[in-house]
Amino acid sequence: MKLTFTGSGSAFTVGGNNYQSNMILEDDFSIRMLIGCGTDIRLALYDLGLSALDIDDVYVSHLHCDHVGGLEWFALVRKFNSNNPSKPCLHISGDLVDDLWNKVLSGGLNTLKDCHAELTSYFEVDKLSHGKFSWQGVQFDLIPMFHAISNYTVLPSYGLFFCAGQQSIYITGDIPFCYKKIEEIYQKASIIFHDCETCERKSIVHASYDDLVTLDPLIKAKMWLYNYSPGPLPDAKKEGFQGFVKKGQTFDFSKPKTLYV
Ligand SMILES: [Zn+2]
Repeated sequence: MKLTFTGSGSAFTVGGNNYQSNMILEDDFSIRMLIGCGTDIRLALYDLGLSALDIDDVYVSHLHCDHVGGLEWFALVRKFNSNNPSKPCLHISGDLVDDLWNKVLSGGLNTLKDCHAELTSYFEVDKLSHGKFSWQGVQFDLIPMFHAISNYTVLPSYGLFFCAGQQSIYITGDIPFCYKKIEEIYQKASIIFHDCETCERKSIVHASYDDLVTLDPLIKAKMWLYNYSPGPLPDAKKEGFQGFVKKGQTFDFSKPKTLYV
């Protein structure tokens, strides 16, 4: 099983050298799950020689546009392309389903010629109520975190922990710096893909590089950084990290992680 970053930049990434941080998990039989479907996903897939028709499943961690902004495009391409008439499966935490449809997608998708559409008109919806799901024989544990909080509204984000090949993998999704809450996950993962903001003005809703660099060297040594801001980057390898993920970089979990370059 291998993981490819269609992009590794933040939501504000614009330009030819990177896209927003979405990923493709691919098994040994070329079955593909998209992890995040952001606003620039159609271009990011095109760069990899892929389209919506090549994607079997989608996982959504939370409702920011760099993770769900491409879902309307994805749903319409799949609905109206006869080359692949099967419905893709959408894996999503149960508490996000109504908001995804009512607040994000229904404006553009609820009118079909012959019916009043629902989310299930476009996707097989795997509404996750027990914090886990299975895909291609692998169990994925959802790792919940408060991503953003304003007034009385909380925006949760669900990272993923799973084991594949020689690795136990933690993909944080969008999270603030919160070492104490996820120390146990940091310890049991052999490789960590971590949200990392690098801009000068810290947003609080993302872990910043300045905070991550204070972590235990043994944890930093497992860590690849992504979701970084446009602009110059610090020398992460010099400071004990594996490095910043590049657009299009692939991690083959059947191989030792020393080969991830
Ligand atoms: Zn977010």
